[in-house]
Amino acid sequence: MNLKVTLLPGDGIGPEVVDSAVLLMNAVAEKLNIDFVYNRQLVGGCSYDKHGTPLTDEVLSACYDSDAVLLGAVGGYKWENLPQNLKPEAALLKLRKALGLFNNIRPAKVYSSLINASSLKPEVLEGTDLIILRELTGDVYFGEPRGFDNDHGWNTMIYTREEVERIARYGFELARKRGKKITSVDKANVLDCSQFWRMVVHEIHKDYPDVELKDMYVDNAAMQLVRNPKQFDVILTQNLFGDILSDIAAMITGSLGMLPSASLGKSYALYEPVHGSAPDIAGQGKANPLATFSSVAMMFDLSFKMPKAAGIIESAIDKTLNMGFRTADIYSPDSILVSTNKITELVIENFNQIYNEQELNVLLN
Ligand code: NAD
Repeated sequence: MNLKVTLLPGDGIGPEVVDSAVLLMNAVAEKLNIDFVYNRQLVGGCSYDKHGTPLTDEVLSACYDSDAVLLGAVGGYKWENLPQNLKPEAALLKLRKALGLFNNIRPAKVYSSLINASSLKPEVLEGTDLIILRELTGDVYFGEPRGFDNDHGWNTMIYTREEVERIARYGFELARKRGKKITSVDKANVLDCSQFWRMVVHEIHKDYPDVELKDMYVDNAAMQLVRNPKQFDVILTQNLFGDILSDIAAMITGSLGMLPSASLGKSYALYEPVHGSAPDIAGQGKANPLATFSSVAMMFDLSFKMPKAAGIIESAIDKTLNMGFRTADIYSPDSILVSTNKITELVIENFNQIYNEQELNVLLN
């Protein structure tokens, strides 16, 4: 089977984690008889340096012509003072809009071997398994008018009915397959846009009476995420609130380097780690590629409909952590510090081993 994947490594540690992910994808491909056809393109600061824009039409065409897109991260000190529309991060917003990626799925689960890497107490974390479902193409990020002059700065928080309905439906369907609980997070006590969000979510809820719906203000949700994260199953939220809450949720897993994400639309899908380009550690072999590996697992599950392969990738990550291997961001004195390349090698070794054991079991049973 041929599968076309557009690779957008981006800036900073982006190329390091994407290169590692490609090694893992090739290992999976070998087992499953897949031929990956990769199309590697520049995006973000590196694209600005070469083409004067963070996102070219050629990149968009490559994405339209692929079965999935894998992105590393964009941004860095070098490009901080560019105008908003030329900043590396502008490429992300344009990509999301152009590919219609309204649905951002960010799972945050606790790896038992990493429970001490978090700043939260183990008893608070134990058993946490939640998904932040963040709307990605509306809200203040895209609302017009926007701008600033000497005396004012302004943005527009806006949602259409269609935008809220489609993400709410996805959320209820997702919750149905999990713990059947949705917490819809908004700021309806202050913001009209959030009141509208809440009204539409409740209307859609009527079609999903088997799923429990709870509303929560975003300030309370931020507190509850660190007080008692186990209470959550699916958190459904607006673009801006989801951006902030998912960084808080990073502390559940111990590091930003552990959080994967999938962004889905009607026709396209993009997978990327939640973290940024980490310019402070770029090029030093210190980047944790595990969030990108989990993003690849989501790609196998959601885009290629190969949940078994996704499960084995997750098991390989788990096993590598259980063996005590850690990159610097999740290192503790009782573990073994390894580089990006070494942890990649170990996860691939474990993937092959778990795959072979499962094959053998099928043959023997
Ligand atoms: P960041 O996520 O890049 O880094 C925050 C901290 O976490 C840093 O100390 C970094 O070293 C560490 N870290 C992050 N990912 C890691 C990994 N995989 N392994 C080990 N350590 C890791 O956030 P920031 O410093 O606020 O932003 C840096 C740049 O990235 C900025 O230009 C920002 O705009 C951009 N950014 C891009 C994205 C994206 O591409 N999706 C997301 C967030 C930030």
